[in-house]
Amino acid sequence: MQKLQGIAVSPGVAIGEAFVLDNEGFRIPHRFVARDAVDSELDRLARAFDETRAQTERHRDTVARELGAQYSAIFEAHLQMLSDPQLRAELDASIRERHYSPEYAVSRVLRRYAKVFQSLDNSFLAERSNDIVDIERRLLRELLGKPREEITNLTSPVLILAYNLTPSETAALDRKFVLGFATEIGGAAGHTAIVAEGMEIPAVVGIGPFLNEVSGGDLVIVDGNSGTIILQPDEETIARYRFEAEQDRTRHAKLEALRDLPSQTLDGTKIELMGNIEFPNEAPHCLERAVDGIGLYRTEFLYLGSEGVPDEDAHYQAYAEVVQAMQGRPVVIRTLDLGADKLVGRDPTPEDSSPLGLRSIRLSLRNVPLFKTQLRAILRAAALGDVRIMFPLISAVHEFRQAKMIVADVIDDLLESGLPFSRNVKLGMMVEVPSAVIMLDQFVDEVDFLSLGTNDLIQYTLAVDRGNKDVADLYSSSDPALLRLIDMTVKAAERKQTPVSLCGQMSGSTTYTMLLLGLGLRSLSVPPSAVYEIKRVVRSVTIEQCRAVAARALSMENARNIRNFLKEELKKVLPEMDDQR
Ligand code: PEP
Ligand code: MG
Repeated sequence: MQKLQGIAVSPGVAIGEAFVLDNEGFRIPHRFVARDAVDSELDRLARAFDETRAQTERHRDTVARELGAQYSAIFEAHLQMLSDPQLRAELDASIRERHYSPEYAVSRVLRRYAKVFQSLDNSFLAERSNDIVDIERRLLRELLGKPREEITNLTSPVLILAYNLTPSETAALDRKFVLGFATEIGGAAGHTAIVAEGMEIPAVVGIGPFLNEVSGGDLVIVDGNSGTIILQPDEETIARYRFEAEQDRTRHAKLEALRDLPSQTLDGTKIELMGNIEFPNEAPHCLERAVDGIGLYRTEFLYLGSEGVPDEDAHYQAYAEVVQAMQGRPVVIRTLDLGADKLVGRDPTPEDSSPLGLRSIRLSLRNVPLFKTQLRAILRAAALGDVRIMFPLISAVHEFRQAKMIVADVIDDLLESGLPFSRNVKLGMMVEVPSAVIMLDQFVDEVDFLSLGTNDLIQYTLAVDRGNKDVADLYSSSDPALLRLIDMTVKAAERKQTPVSLCGQMSGSTTYTMLLLGLGLRSLSVPPSAVYEIKRVVRSVTIEQCRAVAARALSMENARNIRNFLKEELKKVLPEMDDQR
C-alpha cells in the first residue's frame, strides 16, 4: 500500500481499478496476461517490433534522401537496438515466464535501460537514453494504437490516473464509467479542477510523479476530500473508506432536506445562492438544488468541447437551453474567456497560453466579428428569460466601455434583422484583476453589477500561476491581500449600491462562508455540488457573528493563520463540518 498526497479539487471518495495514462497519453494496461494468452501476446510483440523496424527504415531512407546519409545514422542506431537479440530475449522472457503484458514488459525493460544510460558518466551515452525512450514510445504506439482515444470509450468503471487531463478531456469523460481521477500535474484552480467539480467527479491533482508505481487494473482509492490517493490499499483501508463513503452518502441525503428551506442567516438576512456552470446540462442540477439563478456560465467551454468554431446558432442553442431550464431565474452569461490558441486551432505558443497575454475580453475586443457572434446569440436568448452579460478580465475602464459599445452595435443589427431578442440586458464585469479593484470607483459608474473572480484575482495579486502545482502552496484564498481586495470591492460597490457577487471557487468552500458574509457579500455563486453545504452554514450563523470573524481575519497577517482561524470559527457553529479546501 502506498499513500500519496496531492491537491483536493473535487470532493468525494472513489474506489476502483486504475486506468493509467502516461504523459503522452498511452494507456499502461494490465500488468499480467493470462497463461493461455502468452503465445498470442508474444506474437503481438513480434508484430510491433516488425512494424516499428519497418517504420524506422522508412524514416532512415527519407532522411538519407533529403539530407544525406550522415543524418540517417541515428535511425541505424535505433534499428540496431530493435534487432538486438538480447533485448528481445529479455522481453520474451518477461512475457513467457512472468506473464507480463507486452506493453508492461516494454515499458519496464526499456525504462530500466534508459535509466542505466542516464546514470553513466558520459554525456554522449546519457543522451542515448532519449533514443531508448523514443523506441519505447514507438513500440507502445504499435501495441496500443492511438493514444488517449480510449478514455472516451470506456466500458467498465475505472479511476483514471494520468500525467494530466485537459479541461476538454475532463469534460468528455463519461460519468457512468469514470469514478474519479488523479493527475501528476495541475493546480487548485486550474480549469480541469473546475470541470471536475462541475461534473461531481472526485479528483486529486498535482500529486507529482507516481505513474511508474501503478499499472492498469491495480486497486486504487482517490480521496477528493483530503487530496490523497492510495495505491493498492490493504483490506483495513478499503473497509475504512467504504465506511466513509457510506457516511458521505448519508450526509448528502441529510443535506437534501435543505432544498426548500430559505437561504438566510439566523437573523433573517437573505443570501442569494447562485450556481456556476460550464455546460448547459448542468443547469438542471442547479435547479434541482433550488438555486436563485446561474451566477456564472463559463461559455468558453463551448469552444473547448468542439472541433471547429461554434457559429451563432450553436451559441444560441446552448444559451437558450440554459435560460429555459432556469425558468425565469437570472442567468449571468460570461463572454468568452479564451486564449488565442483555442481560436486558431493550433498548438499554443508560450505567448498564447500566458495568463498575461492576449486572452479573454482582450481577445474579444480584437476580434469583433467573433465577439458580435456571441453577443447576438446572447441577446436572442435573452428574449427567453432574465439574461445578464458579464465581461471577463476587465482591467481598464475603456475596455468595459468598448464592450458596451459593441453590444449597442449588435442591438442595432438585431433590430434590423427582425429576429426576436431583448435589449434590456444588464451588463456587468468580473472583478478579477487587481487594477479593476483599484479603479473600482470609476467602474461603478459604468456597470450594472460586479462579480468577484477570486480564482484569477489570487493568481494576479500574488503572481502565482493557478494551475501550477509547484507553487500551489502559495496560492491561497485566505491570503490577507485577497481579503483586503474583497473588502475594498464590497465597499466600493456599496457606495453606489452596485450589486456584487463572488463566483471564484472559494465561494463553494464552507471555510470561507462566514468571512464572505462578514465582509458584506449577500450573493454567492457556487459550484452546484456545494449549494447545500453553503446554505447550511448560512442558516447557522448571524451577520453579527460573521462581521466579527471578518474583522479579526482582516487584522491577521498570514494566510495559514487566517485559514486555521476560519476553520476553528466554522467548527464552533458546525462542529462536524470540516472543509479541506
Ligand atoms: C475566477 O477567475 O475566479 C472565475 C470565476 O473565473 P475562471 O475560473 O473561469 O477564470
Ligand atoms: Mg477568471
